[in-house]
Amino acid sequence: MGETKKTQRDVSDVCRFLKGVGPARAEHLRRLGIETVDDLLTHFPRKYYDRRNLTKIGDVKVGDESSFTGQILSVAKRSIRGRRSMVTAAIADDTGVVQVVWFNQPYLAKILRPGSELIVTGELSYYRGARQIVNPEFEVLEKTLDQELLHTGRIVPVYPLTRGLSQRFLRELIARTLDAYAGTVYENLPDSLIKSASVVSRVDALLGVHFPLDRTEYERAVNRLKIEELFYLQLAFSLHRLQRSDRPARRKLAIEYGLWNRFLASLPFELTGAQQRVLSDIRSDLESDQGMHRLLQGDVGSGKTVVAGMAMLAAVEAGKQAALMVPTEILAGQHASTLSEFFEPLGVPVTFLIGSLKAGEKRRIHGDIANGSARIVVGTHALIQEGVEFNDLGVVVVDEQHRFGVRQRAALLGKGQSPHMLVMTATPIPRTLALTAYADLDLSVIDEMPKGRAPVKTGVVPPDRRDAMIAFIREQVAGGFQAYFLYPLIDDTEKQDVEAAVSAYEELSNGALSDIPVGMLHGRMSYAEKDAAMTAFCNGETRVLVATTVVEVGVHVPQATIMVIHHPERFGLSQIHQLRGRVGRGGQEGYCFLLVNEGVPQSARERLDVLVRVSDGFEIAEADLRIRGPGEFFGVRQHGVPALKIANPAIDRQAVEVARRHVKNLLDTAPRLEGRDAAPCRRYLSDIGVDLTSHTIG
Ligand code: ADP
Ligand code: MG
Repeated sequence: MGETKKTQRDVSDVCRFLKGVGPARAEHLRRLGIETVDDLLTHFPRKYYDRRNLTKIGDVKVGDESSFTGQILSVAKRSIRGRRSMVTAAIADDTGVVQVVWFNQPYLAKILRPGSELIVTGELSYYRGARQIVNPEFEVLEKTLDQELLHTGRIVPVYPLTRGLSQRFLRELIARTLDAYAGTVYENLPDSLIKSASVVSRVDALLGVHFPLDRTEYERAVNRLKIEELFYLQLAFSLHRLQRSDRPARRKLAIEYGLWNRFLASLPFELTGAQQRVLSDIRSDLESDQGMHRLLQGDVGSGKTVVAGMAMLAAVEAGKQAALMVPTEILAGQHASTLSEFFEPLGVPVTFLIGSLKAGEKRRIHGDIANGSARIVVGTHALIQEGVEFNDLGVVVVDEQHRFGVRQRAALLGKGQSPHMLVMTATPIPRTLALTAYADLDLSVIDEMPKGRAPVKTGVVPPDRRDAMIAFIREQVAGGFQAYFLYPLIDDTEKQDVEAAVSAYEELSNGALSDIPVGMLHGRMSYAEKDAAMTAFCNGETRVLVATTVVEVGVHVPQATIMVIHHPERFGLSQIHQLRGRVGRGGQEGYCFLLVNEGVPQSARERLDVLVRVSDGFEIAEADLRIRGPGEFFGVRQHGVPALKIANPAIDRQAVEVARRHVKNLLDTAPRLEGRDAAPCRRYLSDIGVDLTSHTIG
């Protein structure tokens, strides 16, 4: 699926519905991600106020939000200290009078006329002994009978906003747009789904989610919209998958398993049952006509590397090359040395390619890759640069796949003729989400840890326990163990985080740990510097390593038993789980300390408690998904994939299931979305800019 080319009406077209709305507002809308009418109509409320019940003015109570109608008795405008303006109005019904005040909306003095009727929603308060309502929402009641209230006297939507936009503006804009466009909103789900899942029509759902008349209408609308989103998400992925099967078949590998078996015999440990299961999945992929297109999920430390190594070895055995792409140079270095240890005794060379090698060396390696003497190549993005030409690439492996985009995966695949592909992730994607987001890959899971690996003991450390923690760390270091102090990367510029890590390094190495060799590793160092720092830590020359997230992905230091994480509240639970997976890998007990500052709210600490209680990565990922939602979970929106604005696969399991079943039904009968039932899908996909004819993603 290709570039998004929005074919729909631009949102600036509808801004003209409202008086005084110019290009500036359209710009604000764009900041909310609203570019088209459809974007606007799917900008869903984040909550609602129930303002259906009207109160008599005499019954309005201090501190409660209430809605009432009344007649304007008088209106006055004045300015306060020359800058702020204040419009006051007295409003009465047959039970009493109340004073209403609006600040900084001087134009209201023109709109509000004594004698006209208002409906008002606001909170009554006391100010210098007088009862008044400050900045209430209101509408002037027209004499017409069928006036539709938007802001008061009904269930009122509350939207996510950005600076420069008001609730009132957005509510009115959406209401007007719905009025004007309801007739053009067409059904985008297949008839068969609508009937059998008995969901409301798209237009009713949009009306019902923005301006529901009651709870039932709201629930029906939301249910339908969730199913719709999940349907399109899964459809998009299934289409990727189908397009894949349209391509020339992958070449089956003719594998003798001589090297493979010799390698197995040489391993110092026995594979876990889960590893063996995954290996048999991989073998049957490699020997099948469809080939391998597999996502391998396994918690940190579950032993993915050896599995990936064996997939690559199979390629070598079939006379082909294999490549492993990882996101950082440090990690590439680690994998290269692990794989060399594995394979060089078998006479299979391992080649290492990263961007920071010298030009001459790179050229030499490019030559080896091109002439086929490089059999197994491990590297970073350097693998997908121009100038890298494989002689015959049979298997590609992508590690820590969430760090790479779909395009980078595709670029690596493009270095061979439909090579087999294995992507690996330690982010344990909850089953529900894996079903949707990775429908284009077959899934294998390593759900078993190597024997003797105990969960990392985790604790939340408040400031007054910090000294005790340091004392514990000193003991561990005296016992021969090592510790990470992590200042994970927070902003894109890295600058502040690096500064924080550097000053922590200075503080520790001159203070509490002055008698212990402390190392430093951060993103602004050169590869040579990073490599030196990592090597020093690996072989125990430094015992404590202060670092930014570079160690997050995959680094293996058996003697490291302690992970101290600063600002843990800023991170996803899964991310922290990965970080703590770096310690206690040598068979000893591992410890993870989540250092929280004074100001961290209780709710954030409670969230971190999940890590204290739970050691299963999948359960943690589920909790993460529940708390933060799918958008955050993925970090970045994936290209060419419909967004989830209202559905959360971790929670909306039933909707996931309904959508999944119907995507399957549809594609079973109309794999190219041909025919009547699929017609709405064709139209909608083309409207949201999903190009059904363009290239595949591998
Ligand atoms: P990850 O899945 O996080 O990439 P690794 O592949 O780095 O994990 O494996 C972590 C450690 O566990 C490595 O030292 C590896 O040699 C070891 N290991 C892998 N499989 C087993 C096993 N079946 N039994 C014992 N140790 C194993
Ligand atoms: Mg790994």
